[in-house]
Amino acid sequence: MSTTADAIRAADAHSAHNYHPLPLVVASAEGAWMTDVEGRRYLDMLAGYSALNFGHGNRRLIDAARAQLERVTLTSRAFHHDRFADFCTELAALCGKEMVLPMNTGAEAVETAVKTARKWGYEVKGVPDGHAKIVVAADNFHGRTTTIVSFSTDHEARDHFGPYTPGFEIVPYGDLTALAHAVTENTVAVLLEPIQGEAGVLVPPAGYLSGVRELTRERNVLFMADEIQSGLGRTGRTFACEHEGVVPDVYILGKALGGGVVPVSAVVADRDVLGVFRPGEHGSTFGGNPLACAVALEVIAMLRTGEFQGRATELGEHLHRELNLLVGGGAVTAVRGRGLWAGVDVDPSRGTGREISEKLMELGVLVKDTHGSTIRIAPPLVISKEDLDWGLAQLRSVLGA
Ligand code: PLP
Repeated sequence: MSTTADAIRAADAHSAHNYHPLPLVVASAEGAWMTDVEGRRYLDMLAGYSALNFGHGNRRLIDAARAQLERVTLTSRAFHHDRFADFCTELAALCGKEMVLPMNTGAEAVETAVKTARKWGYEVKGVPDGHAKIVVAADNFHGRTTTIVSFSTDHEARDHFGPYTPGFEIVPYGDLTALAHAVTENTVAVLLEPIQGEAGVLVPPAGYLSGVRELTRERNVLFMADEIQSGLGRTGRTFACEHEGVVPDVYILGKALGGGVVPVSAVVADRDVLGVFRPGEHGSTFGGNPLACAVALEVIAMLRTGEFQGRATELGEHLHRELNLLVGGGAVTAVRGRGLWAGVDVDPSRGTGREISEKLMELGVLVKDTHGSTIRIAPPLVISKEDLDWGLAQLRSVLGA
């Protein structure tokens, strides 16, 4: 067995340095806990950026995956398989929509949504070919492909990856007036995160999402909600849009849809939108594969019970109550979020987000920094209240609060 230092040295030597992981090497995990190669245990308060909403090694998901592994794992979409229809039917029903287009990663689903909106714009709305415009928000995070970074405002994500894909207009997040001005007759879609995760768990002002819904409906523009990080229980509802009673035209899903077991993503919409695709126009070898469908079906069944949304609401209220006690005490300048999801701005004099994350790691708690002095907290929804309280106690001790 390699030690932490050996494993990190070898990874540094033989992998591209496109990440800056915390210096621990995980060997196993269960529920909300991870164990490293030297047997140290850590409370996971990040949950794979919300891909692990149901916890590590969730029995129902592992059993579903194992059963499917023994039957058939991949057919490609050249043939039908016997989990596909159930998956699409169940996911469409969960979303209150008619059709599903399955992919694998979040970025692929966003790319698929962009293609969907453009094709809908040309074939249904009547926008002149090649002139479709999609309005997005500043500080967005929708993935890492060349088209997606073309409409990022984050220099690290974008610089030196041009030439960029045209056809996007960026407006400030939360600003309905700016959005209304940006929408023209060639606009086919507004693409937004209902809560901006990577930006630091930014919740838009009350009335924003419902205002976007109203505006897009009036102007015959698709409202595409990227619920890849915010969806599937994290905020206390199945979708973050529900907090404002909003139903977008297009849901973009990923992360927790695969239960942290397999990559599963999807675009979900009604027939008048997803019906624009004909054979040969879009696809993915692994999209909608039997293993992915089997795991996602179990995820959907778990979400149907409402248990996880309930946990996120209850534990989330507790989390935010406790974190808000730290605001104004000198250590924490702001707390944002919804459900079991928080962005915590730490007073920079107490350290950078990275330094706070490293100190927490030494105490056995895993979080991740974003943008300077912000840390993100998003534990698996299966975390116990006792473990959450223990994690919060470690945070208080690191912050000297
Ligand atoms: N969209 C949102 C809102 C995300 O948070 C992420 C990942 O963090 C993505 C898209 C990209 O997903 P993936 O990393 O699976 O490509």
